[in-house]
Amino acid sequence: MKIHDIAFIGAGASALMAASLISNKDIALIDANPRIGAKILISGGGKCNLTNRFATAKNYLGDNNFIAPTLLRFPPKEVLDFAQKHQLDLEERSHGQMFCRQSAKALVAIFEKKILTCKLYLSTKALHVEKNEYFTIHTDQGKIYAYKLVVASGGLSYASIGASDIGYKIAEHFGHTVITPSPALVGFTLQKEQFWMKELSGIAIPVTISVEGKSFSENLLFAHKGISGPAVLSSSLYWKKGKMSIDFLSNISLKALLKKHSQKQISTALPLPKRFTKAFLESMQLEDKVISKLKNDEVTKLESLKCYEFAPAGNFGFSKAEVTKGGVNTAEINPQTFESLLCPNLYFIGEVLDVSGELGGFNFQWAFASGYCCAQEIF
Ligand SMILES: Cc1cc2nc3c(=O)[nH]c(=O)nc-3n(C[C@H](O)[C@H](O)[C@H](O)COP(=O)(O)OP(=O)(O)OC[C@H]3O[C@@H](n4cnc5c(N)ncnc54)[C@H](O)[C@@H]3O)c2cc1C
Repeated sequence: MKIHDIAFIGAGASALMAASLISNKDIALIDANPRIGAKILISGGGKCNLTNRFATAKNYLGDNNFIAPTLLRFPPKEVLDFAQKHQLDLEERSHGQMFCRQSAKALVAIFEKKILTCKLYLSTKALHVEKNEYFTIHTDQGKIYAYKLVVASGGLSYASIGASDIGYKIAEHFGHTVITPSPALVGFTLQKEQFWMKELSGIAIPVTISVEGKSFSENLLFAHKGISGPAVLSSSLYWKKGKMSIDFLSNISLKALLKKHSQKQISTALPLPKRFTKAFLESMQLEDKVISKLKNDEVTKLESLKCYEFAPAGNFGFSKAEVTKGGVNTAEINPQTFESLLCPNLYFIGEVLDVSGELGGFNFQWAFASGYCCAQEIF
């Protein structure tokens, strides 16, 4: 019977970074997918937004005291150095986002080379785990044994590429608490009052969304059954219940605009897609008239473009969510080593933990940083 030094459940971003940094150990990488890094391959529209140059703990939902030291030990610059060292060509986009210039395949290919000595158990689904002097990992392909177990199984998003609740089950089995997982970085569905937006599918507008003391200035995309786009996805991370505020005239003074174009019709004066303006005016029961002829209450209605109150009905669910918020309670994890404080030799890294980043490279940054810190411990 072979007992590995270390087994990783999951061969995604966090496990690959960790495994590629550990030398002289017998490592097993177990993944339900037929190949490693499945999520990396589909991320960022196939170009993987692998970090964000400006990432700090403020870009994450979770315990800042747990997240900040990890990011300090393995900041975005380390990810960029890693990319440069392996000649991975990157492209910087808005807000410090760093994408693979050619394809996410190039990043996975780097990891493939770096984990050549690891034993890969692919197309192998972990089912449950027991511990005596070592861990026994029961899988649909038989048992795998290891002295140390790193749970790097990610969240519940995108079950189509291997996501499962195994990480939470293992955590609970060993006495951990799990903050209820829910979909995040996901679009919102509409309540009746916003059904007017249904007609706008395909339109994108630069907006500022304010939610729970945070604000995001990016595009909002009207989708068939709701709203999506970068500003909406990041907002979904912080939204709990109730309303958020959407400014459809981001960085534009409505007052100045109305003054300047007082002799124009509303739809001509507003720098917004005509289809949007028409639907908005109808929803407000506002006539598209010359601005100087608007009564006070009509101006007030128009002003709601700057602070439109939006209360989502719900969201598009795990199948569309880019991440899972919630997860293994970080209060029960050693922030230096990522080892469980309840079960020696058991580690949790990446998205399975109760740490979730905004849209824009922050989640891979977390996966890599937590993988790095854990690898330093296991070295
Ligand atoms: C469509 C999409 C696009 C994204 N784009 C970006 C982006 O551009 N930038 C960014 O920062 N973040 C992005 N993310 C988020 C990012 O991919 C994740 O946060 C990150 O991959 C988490 O890394 P991880 O190692 O914790 O988990 P993962 O990378 O999800 O890896 C977990 C692995 O565990 C395996 N697994 C799960 N259960 C089992 C089981 N029972 N048995 C065996 N194996 C199992 C899975 O198959 C998976 O391969 C995106 C997510 C999605 C869904």
